[in-house]
Amino acid sequence: MAKGGYEEAIAGLKKLLSEKTDLENVAAAKINELTADLQASTENPVDAVQRIKTGFAHFKKENYEMHPDLYGKLSKGQSPKFMVFACSDSRVCPSHVLNFQPGEAFMVRNIANMVPPYDQTKFSGTGAAIEYAVLHLKVENILVIGHSCCGGIKGLMALPDDGNTSSEFIEEWVKLCLPAKAKVKAACSGMELSEQCLALEKEAVNISLGNLLTYPFVREAVAKKALSLKGGHYDFVNGSFELWDLEFSLTPSLTLQ
Ligand SMILES: [Zn+2]
Repeated sequence: MAKGGYEEAIAGLKKLLSEKTDLENVAAAKINELTADLQASTENPVDAVQRIKTGFAHFKKENYEMHPDLYGKLSKGQSPKFMVFACSDSRVCPSHVLNFQPGEAFMVRNIANMVPPYDQTKFSGTGAAIEYAVLHLKVENILVIGHSCCGGIKGLMALPDDGNTSSEFIEEWVKLCLPAKAKVKAACSGMELSEQCLALEKEAVNISLGNLLTYPFVREAVAKKALSLKGGHYDFVNGSFELWDLEFSLTPSLTLQ
């Protein structure tokens, strides 16, 4: 509220109280309530439970109840055309960036949007998601999306050459794309670190596309042309999205502005 508005409101309250003195107790109680609210909002600006409640109420009113046909259909099953790998980064949700609606994209999100190679013991969580998407949902596309300013990629770039790690999980995880780092270091040695990271964000996506082919059911579906593998890079600094096919060197990439 503008300062004039505030002063006007206080003046109005004073005038009302001078005319109707019996309202003083009611006004005092309301002012105490307001003071407590204002204090809480400065001490704890985001109340988690409240945020979740208002978020769901908004979704239900503006989306769920507006599209009964869609949610009726989805209550019976899903048949997404896409499986998407994206980073856990809070700025890159594919539902926002690519406007995927409920039922359109089966997703895995992890640090630096990496697809590990086929390994039934180490990476069963990712393996299960890929197996379900390819064999049961029969998705037609797997899209791996890298992004600008990726902390996981910066971490990979900063890994010491002696292989020593100081984190519990992060460094071991991003090492999945060490071959991409070696390639970028060799090709972009003269570039600034930020440029090298940008190149690595894209090259790491190619490692993941290659790793997808280590899953026999992915290979089979790709060979039958029932499944295509695509790489993407979302740049939230420039607001652009680059898209390419698995045969990175054979097909020109497409930049959407
Ligand atoms: Zn990231």
